[in-house]
Amino acid sequence: MVAIGTERAWTGKHVNVKEDGTFTCVVCGVDLFKTEKKFESGSGWPSFSDVAEKGNVHRVVDESYGMKRVEVVCTQCGSHLGHVFEDGPKEDTGLRYCINSASLNFKKKDGGH
Ligand SMILES: [Zn+2]
Repeated sequence: MVAIGTERAWTGKHVNVKEDGTFTCVVCGVDLFKTEKKFESGSGWPSFSDVAEKGNVHRVVDESYGMKRVEVVCTQCGSHLGHVFEDGPKEDTGLRYCINSASLNFKKKDGGH
């Protein structure tokens, strides 16, 4: 279990990634999110409206801090990824996965790095 604190807004290395590709778990390498579901939320953290593969991302209800938030973790290794909110794009899932760049690796679609 790796604990990664929430990084400061706009400091994450993946905030501005727009190339086609897949974001994978930095710990175990499983596919988590895709650029096609990434959108600009204005929050300063990489935001996605959906996951790459259902089942790879697990939700955990977090009621610390006196408010209910839904944490998302990697199903395979249990690594903390970020949180999911229900104010995402209405024309899509209506969800906003707010993810720490530090939890993700980016893999470009054409294989190269
Ligand atoms: Zn993982």
